[in-house]
Amino acid sequence: MSTGRPLRRIAVEEAFAVPEQLDGYRDLARSDWGDGDVRFWRAVLGGAFADIVADLLNVGPARLAMMDRLGVDVQLLSLTSPGVQVFAPARASALARLANDRLAETIARHPARFAGLATIPVQDPAAAVIELERAIGLGMKGTIVNSHTNGRYLDEEVFWPVLEAAEALDAPIYIHPRTLPEAAIGPYQAHNLTGGIWGYAAETGLHAMRLLASGVLARFPKLKIVLGHMGEGIPWWLYRIDYMWKLQSRRVLRGSNMLPSELFRQHFWITTSGMNDPDALGFALGKLGYERILWAMDYPYQEPDETVRWLGDMDLDAGVKAAVFGGNAERLFRIAAN
Ligand code: MN
Repeated sequence: MSTGRPLRRIAVEEAFAVPEQLDGYRDLARSDWGDGDVRFWRAVLGGAFADIVADLLNVGPARLAMMDRLGVDVQLLSLTSPGVQVFAPARASALARLANDRLAETIARHPARFAGLATIPVQDPAAAVIELERAIGLGMKGTIVNSHTNGRYLDEEVFWPVLEAAEALDAPIYIHPRTLPEAAIGPYQAHNLTGGIWGYAAETGLHAMRLLASGVLARFPKLKIVLGHMGEGIPWWLYRIDYMWKLQSRRVLRGSNMLPSELFRQHFWITTSGMNDPDALGFALGKLGYERILWAMDYPYQEPDETVRWLGDMDLDAGVKAAVFGGNAERLFRIAAN
């Protein structure tokens, strides 16, 4: 397979922050709220990871210089996790509007280099629909939802208007990790297992499983979901998920007569964020096909040079490599080819 044009690198899970969001986290950090992300940001704002905070706030020359040095053509930017989902609804709505306006200005300054995913106030579904429609109007390519919102998940009926709007707008929903809700996080707190080492994947994989197992996807047949971190473990589990689904379906009436693996292939795309592992990509390519896998840096949370190098070095068909590096992102997120 040959692409006939030069390889384009489009990174699709790339974080930024706005100062007002960090002010909001600072306010929450002063409270005694035990939310896992608030505890994380309490540490960050207390001085840990100062370089990451600086990188998150920078959507100008320094980020572009890093992209130029590594040959990254486009970053698809999204407000860093947990976005506005930890705030009271009114503040969440105001911050979502502000973040989307700021992102639109950034993209307008560098339209060939940046694209964006909308921030939405998930805790107020009616407001989330309005903001999603407005942000898509500003040019956003989809939306990002940082897993649970106050312990609730997108399969719940209260969020169906958001799924309906995303489907109608053909706006992919990127389900990004955050820490587990208070009801579940306890056992993960031993040995620092709440974050990227395991807890994020447990939480975000659960979110994907709820969408698959609830039957809700049958209501929104064109809904597009994106998972980072090579699918948060789901591709590896598809055989067992199908097997147990068939076993359980004898007792439980399901909303869809498709197997979970079929639903997954219909609705989900996965990205390589935080999984710079050729073996994992090789497995995912075999399981899902190359058109469902997109490259991501997970900037600034991963070491950027390695995120480019590992895929560049991989012995892959040139057309497959070009699709994963950028072609699939051009199609899924409608990022114009240069
Ligand atoms: Mn990320």
